[in-house]
Amino acid sequence: MEQLSHDYSFQPEPRRDGILESASKRVRMIFSVMASPNRIDILRILNSKGPLTYSELKSLAGFKSKKESGKFAYHLRKLLRQSLVALNKAERRYTITNLGKLVLSLARQIEERSIIESGKMYVRTSGHSIEEFNSHKIVQSLVREANMPLEQAHKITEEVENKVYKFQSAYLTSSLIRETVNSVLTEHGHEEYRNKLARLGLPSADIFEMLNDIDKARNGIDSIMTKAAQSILSEHLIIGTLSKDIADLHLAGEINISNSGIWGLVPDTLFLNIHEIAKTGIDLKGKFLNVSRIPPINNINDLTTALPLLISLLSRESSTEVVLDGIVPLLSQMADSAGIAPLLTRALMESSIAPTYSFNSLLGLPITTLNLDIDDQPNSKLINAILDSYNNYINFTSVPRIGLSLRFGGKESLTLYSDRIASIIRTGGLVSLIRSGSRSLNGVHKSINSTPYSGAIATLQSLSINLPRLAYQSNKDETYFRARLALMIKPALSAMSARKKALMDLVRKGMLSTLASSTPFTQLGTSNIVINLTGAKESVRDILGYDINNGGMEVLQKVLKTSVDVAMDQGRQIGEDSVGIAMIFDDSSRRFARLDSDKYGKISHGKELVSQDEDKLHTMVDKCNSVDKLLNGGLAVNLDLNDLHSDIEVKNAIMAASDLQSFRPIITHMVCSNCGKRSSRDSNGGCIYCTSTYLISHSI
Ligand SMILES: [Zn+2]
Repeated sequence: MEQLSHDYSFQPEPRRDGILESASKRVRMIFSVMASPNRIDILRILNSKGPLTYSELKSLAGFKSKKESGKFAYHLRKLLRQSLVALNKAERRYTITNLGKLVLSLARQIEERSIIESGKMYVRTSGHSIEEFNSHKIVQSLVREANMPLEQAHKITEEVENKVYKFQSAYLTSSLIRETVNSVLTEHGHEEYRNKLARLGLPSADIFEMLNDIDKARNGIDSIMTKAAQSILSEHLIIGTLSKDIADLHLAGEINISNSGIWGLVPDTLFLNIHEIAKTGIDLKGKFLNVSRIPPINNINDLTTALPLLISLLSRESSTEVVLDGIVPLLSQMADSAGIAPLLTRALMESSIAPTYSFNSLLGLPITTLNLDIDDQPNSKLINAILDSYNNYINFTSVPRIGLSLRFGGKESLTLYSDRIASIIRTGGLVSLIRSGSRSLNGVHKSINSTPYSGAIATLQSLSINLPRLAYQSNKDETYFRARLALMIKPALSAMSARKKALMDLVRKGMLSTLASSTPFTQLGTSNIVINLTGAKESVRDILGYDINNGGMEVLQKVLKTSVDVAMDQGRQIGEDSVGIAMIFDDSSRRFARLDSDKYGKISHGKELVSQDEDKLHTMVDKCNSVDKLLNGGLAVNLDLNDLHSDIEVKNAIMAASDLQSFRPIITHMVCSNCGKRSSRDSNGGCIYCTSTYLISHSI
C-alpha cells in the first residue's frame, strides 16, 4: 500500500499537464470564436449548404459590399485557425469540420436554453422558418380551418398554451402544436373539428421503409412519389371527403373503394375515339405546361408523335383504363399507311412510359386499350400490321401497359387473325375479344343503354359491394339477401354521384387538362356510373347454397336483375340516368376475402373463369352470355389458357370460346425480379432464364 502511494506521488506527469493546459487554452479560444454572431452564422451556413467557395460563403453570410471584405476575411481566418472550418485546397472550397459542428450544436443548445429561460418559445414551421410561439395563430386555425366559434377557440387555445409551455426543452414544431391542439379537441369530444384540423401524411417509418424496399417500388422513385402522394389523398378521401356512413361501409368492408388515392381526382375508364381527336388535335391552352398541343393527325408521322402524347396525357386522367376507338378507320385514311408497322411499334414503346397511379398488382394502372374492329375486311392488311406492331411491342416490355380489344361480328373474321392473336397472347399480350359495342379490357361497357354512343365517355366504376358478406348476414334467405343488396345500392350510388359531380367540377376548372381541352369530351362527352358486385356467384353457390346447374342460375339472374332495376330506379331519383351494374375484377375481392375469412371462415372471391374443357364450355358460354345480357355495366370473363402449351392449342381454345359476348384469354406470366424478363418457372421452380426463384405473377 505504502509502496503504491509512493509510486504514484513520485510519478512524473509532464506530458499530461501539457495536454490539459493546451486543451483548456483551446476551449478559451473556441469560446472567444463563439463570441461573434457573424462567425456562428458562417458555421451555420457551411453546415446547411455544404462546401462553398470564398465568394459564395461571403455573399451568403451577408458581407455583400467590397468594404466588408476585410471584416469577412478576419472572421473566416479566426474560424480556420481554430480548425472549426477547413479549406479544401484542391477544390478551393471551405467546409465545416467536426469540431465546428460540435461548436454549432453547443451554440444551438445554449440558445434554446436561454429562450426557455426567457419565457419565449420558438416554433419550427412547415414553411421552413422559425417563429416565436404565438397563441393567436392557434385561435386563427381553429376559426378559419375548423369553423369553430371565436369564444370556444380562445378557450381551447388557452388549454393548448398551458400544455405547450410545459414541453420546455421539446423541439417545438408546428406539427407538434397541431397534434397538441388535436388532442385537446379530442379530449373535449370535438371530433368534427379535429378531423378538419388533422394533418394528413405518413409516419416517418413508412417512408424509410418505402425507400428501402426496391421490390415494392417497381418503377423506382416514381412509385415512391406516387405512393406518398396517394397516402395523403386517400386519407383525405376517407376522413375529409366521403360522408361518414360511406367511409364506414368501406372501412368495415361492406363496400370497397378502389384506388382511394385518386378516387376523387380522376374517372376510372375513359372511352375516346382517336379518329375524332385526330381531326383537330387537342389544344391544351396552357393547362398542361409541358405539352402545348397534340397536333391534328393527318399522316403516319403525325400519329407517331401524337399517340405517345395522347396516351401519356390521358393516362394521367384515369385510374384504370383508357380505351381508344377508331384507330383502324383513322389509319385507313392515310396515304402512307403501308409502312406503318415499325413506326407504330415505336409509338407503342414510347407510350409505355405513361404514368402509373395504381399499385394493386405488379402491372401499373391505368393501361391503354386500342379497340380494333376486325370485321373491317378491306383493311385486313392494316389490321395485320397493327397486330404485328403490337407483338413487337410486347417483346420489348416485360409488363405491357397497352392492350388490344378486338371486336368481331362473326367467326370468319376471327379465323383470319387467330394465328396472330394466339401468338400475341402466348408472348404476353393483353387481349380481349368482344362481339359488339365498345368495352374495356376488363369488360366494362362503354354504353350502358343499348344504343351505342359516339361521343366520349368517362366511366366511374371503382366501388364494389361485398355480396358474400350480405349473403352471410341474410341467414341464407335469398329474398332477404336481395332486399339487403337493394338497400346497399342506395348509399353506393349517392357516393358515386357525389364523386361524379366533384370530378366534373375538376374538369370545368381545367384540373383534368386533357379532358377539359378535348372537344369529343367537352361537347359530346358524358359519364356513366357503374356499381360492381363482387362475389355474386360465390354468394349464390357457396353461401345461399344453390347449385348453379340446378336452380342456382335463376337465383343469380334474379339477384342481378334486382340490382339493375334498383340501380336504375334509385339513379333516376337522384338525377343520374346512366347507372349500371357490373361484375368485373378489381382489388375488392382480395380485400373482402382477407377481411371476411376471419369472421366467416374461408370465403372464395374467385375470378369468373371459364375453363377450356370442351364439354363444359358450351353450357358455360350460355350462362355467361345470359349474365352478360343482364349486366348493363359490364361483365369480365377470363378464359384460362394456362394449361395450353402451343399456339395451335391456344388458337383452338379461342375459337371454341368465341360464342361468348366478350372474354379475355389469359395466360399468367411471371416477371423475374432478378433478370427482369417475362418468364415462367422451370422444373425446380426457378426462372427459366436465370433460375432465380423470385418470380412475381401479374394480372389485371
Ligand atoms: Zn430471371
